[in-house]
Parts: sequence; structure tokens; C-alpha cells
Amino acid sequence: MIIGIDLGTTNSLVGTLDKGRPKLFKGEDGSSLVPSVVEFTESGETRVGALAKQSQKDNLKRTIYSAKRFMGRGLSDVKDWIKLLPFDFSESSEQMVRFKVGQRSYTPMEIGAMVLRKLKSMAESESGQTVDKAVITVPAYFNDAQRQATKFAGELAGLEVVRIVNEPTAACLAYGLDKKAFGNIAVFDLGGGTFDISILRVADGVFEVLATNGNTALGGDDFDHAIAQELANKIVEQSGWDPKTDTQVMAGIVLEAESLKRKLSDIESVQWRWMNPSLPKGQVEILITRTEIETWIRPIVEKAKEPCLQCLKDAGLKPHQITDAILVGGSTRVPLVRKLVQEIFRREPICTLNPDEVVAIGAAVQANILSGQISGMLLLDVIPLSLGIETMGGVVGKIIHRNSTIPISASETFTTYVDGQTSVDIHILQGERELVKDNRSLSRFQLRGLPPLPAGIPKIEVEFIIDANGILNVKATEIRTSTTASICVNPSYGLTDSEVEKMLFDSFENAESDFEERFLIEARVEADSLIRATQKSLLKGKELVSQEEFLQIEKAVESLQTSVTGRDRKLIKEKIEALGETTKHMAELILNQAVQEALQGKKI
Ligand code: AMP
Repeated sequence: MIIGIDLGTTNSLVGTLDKGRPKLFKGEDGSSLVPSVVEFTESGETRVGALAKQSQKDNLKRTIYSAKRFMGRGLSDVKDWIKLLPFDFSESSEQMVRFKVGQRSYTPMEIGAMVLRKLKSMAESESGQTVDKAVITVPAYFNDAQRQATKFAGELAGLEVVRIVNEPTAACLAYGLDKKAFGNIAVFDLGGGTFDISILRVADGVFEVLATNGNTALGGDDFDHAIAQELANKIVEQSGWDPKTDTQVMAGIVLEAESLKRKLSDIESVQWRWMNPSLPKGQVEILITRTEIETWIRPIVEKAKEPCLQCLKDAGLKPHQITDAILVGGSTRVPLVRKLVQEIFRREPICTLNPDEVVAIGAAVQANILSGQISGMLLLDVIPLSLGIETMGGVVGKIIHRNSTIPISASETFTTYVDGQTSVDIHILQGERELVKDNRSLSRFQLRGLPPLPAGIPKIEVEFIIDANGILNVKATEIRTSTTASICVNPSYGLTDSEVEKMLFDSFENAESDFEERFLIEARVEADSLIRATQKSLLKGKELVSQEEFLQIEKAVESLQTSVTGRDRKLIKEKIEALGETTKHMAELILNQAVQEALQGKKI
């Protein structure tokens, strides 16, 4: 049996299809929702899920939650969040975040694996079967490092991860939207820690993700923190005591905020009673209304708007062309969020399935497809940012463009720049900008052992292969000699969402100046190689041309050299052409001489 797993920031679920019907497995507490929380008790016991969540308030330093936010990330990527969390981080977290519990430290993958192991055992005990394969979902915006980290967590838990699926794609499957003849579907997924918006097209039973966008640092947790800050202000107003001075107390208030938020999704107001020995009267009682929390969380909710508009734009659609809007994730129960979705896509969103379960059900459907029980359904996903390599002059040669459907492979042929070059550096980049310095460096590797040929002669094919899980393999081959080198892009620390957003935003903002810069660099590279080639030819050609012609060529070379130091691209191009003209005659003479030499001594 292959199980489908939704490994969530706040809660995780596991399911399968039982005679074609989705079935979610339940834990000891009878709920299918397993809090993604792990507690390490003083006595050395590890508790996962509901039990860990129950005692969280009393064991804040030894209870890890929201670990998904840290998957595939370094400490510098997440420094803004960690201030808000009550547990500690190990100092050696630059490349990979590590949670510090007592004398031990744990990676987000290990915490993820503990949650996954729990889900695996729930499935095993309820089904009575051994489970060793799983489909795991991730936010569509997860980059390569984050996907690899998730896969690794699965392996640590003893599960072969047969497919990593984007959460919104799974949601479409759960709603059986493959049965629609045609539709443009917006999947709005706001969970505890991440926001994804995807636009999928379904036609004759085939899904295609047209575009994805989102924010990996936006979710219900942010609502909780914003509400907690306001609750603390109210406590100060009423009692004069400021709970913000005590991080442990504040962490408790964040939990209170979460529970108030849930209640206010259904009712208009709540009389909130909070007790603490530091309060002058030992407790406070405050009336909190839905309207009030809506003002507090509105700036956070609004952050979801821009990615939606960008996603529509990338999909080439206008809001009225959206045929269905689906809600996914616990935070879409917030009435203000639903209003926003309706406003953007101009239609009432569908929420007939439980928004917490939609993704897990979709994962179960996908697992069923992979185990060969359902056939004839094709799922296509897209990559969120373009991928390419560094070429001469610090310019990016894009090989796979953003929003290309995966799995995909594409290749480009490059050559060498210097005579006799025996190795080339392949620098893999991710992003939308034209210049290397403005993109994210993913990895580097070298192709060695090239035959020492003149510049421009070797043919080096660089192939990018992205598998169905969105994991990138890069292979470089020198075609004549079949020398190859390859790399699977390793999990380094990840990309924060604000970086992804910034990279996209900057690429639109700077498109014109970027192209200008790129053309300038290309002109300089062309000029440089023409100067080298001319200087090389002059060694032979000097004897063949007149002194006057020789001086003219030298002058044209100097003039081109001077133009390269400036930023006038047109001038460089003019000087390139002028040098080309000036050397034409010499080139003919060299060629004639070469032909004569070749014919010498040869008889017909
Ligand atoms: P997920 O990551 O999809 O499990 O979503 C969890 C998030 O949904 C958490 O931030 C919860 O606080 C939030 N959530 C769950 N139920 C509700 C509700 N009834 N109203 C508002 N938010 C909710």
C-alpha cells in the first residue's frame, strides 16, 4: 500500500483510498489531524502529535513545532521568525537550522521524520498492513532544497517517497476536478505557515498547472502572533502589567490567540478570560469581537492579494476567466480570507470538503494512481523560478524557464572562451534576472579533461533534467570526446519566500535595465574575443599586408579597446564592425596563403 501524506506546518494527515473512497487514518485521540509537534520530555520520552501539543504550554522549551518552516533553510533565512518561538536554536545553524533541546540538537528533517513515523504507524495499525511507500505533498513554492529535505525526512522515517506532489495539485485531485471537461481553477491555500496560490487548467481529464505563486512565510501562525500582540496591549491597558516582558508568557498568549481566532471564525464575539499570577487581580476579562481581530489581521490577509494577481498574470488569465476557486488550509475558515478570495476571483469559493483534509485526500488519490489502481490521469506541475547557467561576462543563459511544466529536460550547447581550455566551470543559477549577480546561486561543478582545442571549437552540451518531484539534475558533456560530469543539486540552505518574491519583483522592475546591461556585456565579450583573434592573426598577417594597412588594423584594435572601457553599447558594436572591415583584406590573404601551403607538394 502507498499512503498519501499531507505534512503540514501545523497539522499533518495520512490517508489512502478504500474501494475508491478516501479514508483518513486516525490517531489514539480519534482525530485524523495530527499536530506537527514533537515534545522531548525531561525523562527522555519523545511524544508526537496530540499528546505533545497538550503539554506544550508546560514544556515550551522542549516542544518543537512549525518545523516545516525550517526545512532546507539556514539560520540567516529565518532570523525574523525565531525571535517569536519559545524553543532554542543551536548555534551551528548557519547552513541548516538545528533545534536545541537540552544537550541535544535536532534538524527539521529529524522532527519531520518523527511526525512521519507517527503517521506511518497510524496507517499500519489501522490497516493491519506494512507501509513502506508514501506520496508526500509540499507547498508549490518549495524550492529544490526544501523538497529534498522533505524527501530525506521521509527516508529517515523508513518511507520510500515515491512522489512529492504540490499541495494545490493534490487539492484539485481531491475535488475530482479531472472530471470537468474544461476549467481554469484557482487553488487558494492558506495554512498555518505557508500560502500558495495556483492556477490550474483542466481539459478532458488532464490537469496542467498554468502558474503558481505564494509566500512561504504567510499563514495562520502570523495571525496568531498579530492577535497575541494586540491581546498583550489590552492586558497592559486593563491591568498595567506587560506580558511582553516574559517570552514564556507571550508564547502562552499566542496559543490563546489561536483558540480565540478559531472561535471568532464561527461567532461574532468572545468574552476572553485569562489568568496569570503576575496580574494584580490574578486575571483579566476582555470582550474580543470578530470586527476587532479583522482589523488586526487585515494587513497580513492583504499580503495574499499580490501573489494572486501575479499568478493570474503569469497564467495569462483575467479574473472572470477563472471557473472555480477552491479553498485549502485551515486558515481559509477565517471569514475575512474568504471575502478576499471572492473579491479577487469574483466568484464564491468552493469549500465543500474540509479544508484541512483536502490535500491529504488528494495525496491519497495520487498514491492510488501510482499504485496503478487509477489510470489515464496525467498530472503536470510547474517550476516556480527559471534555471540556467552562468555564461561569459556574468550573464545568465536560461535553460528552463519559470512555470515550465515538469518533469522536463532541456539542453543548450556552449563552447570555450580561451584557447586550450581543459576545464569549464558550470555555475547553476535560479531566478529571473539577466545577470548572475542578481540571481541565486544553486550549485557549481567542473567539467574536466577537455581536449585542449582553440576557443570556440569544443561543443559542451549542458542538460537540465527536473524529475516529477521537482528535483534538478545537471549534466555537462563535451560532445566530441563524450567527457561528462553531472550533479544533483544538493540541499544547501533554502531560499526564503521574501527572496523568491523579491527576485520575481526585481526581474519585472528591472527588466529594461537588465537587458541593456546584458547587451552591453555581450558586446564587450564579443569585442574581447575579436581583439584576441585579430592579435593572433596579426602574428601571421603582418608580413602579408602593407605597413599602412598594418597600422590601420592596430588603430582599429586600439579604438575598439577604448570603446570597451565605456558603457556605450552602440559605439562598441560600431567599432566591432569597423575592425571587421579593416581586417577583411588581411583575412583573405591569410586564407590564400593557407590554401597554397596546403596544396604545396600535392599532385593531382
Ligand atoms: P493547516 O496548515 O492547513 O493545518 O492550517 C492550520 C491553520 O489553520 C492554523 O493556523 C490554525 O489556527 C488555522 N485554523 C484552523 N481552524 C481554524 C478556524 N476555524 N478558524 C481560523 N483558523 C483556523
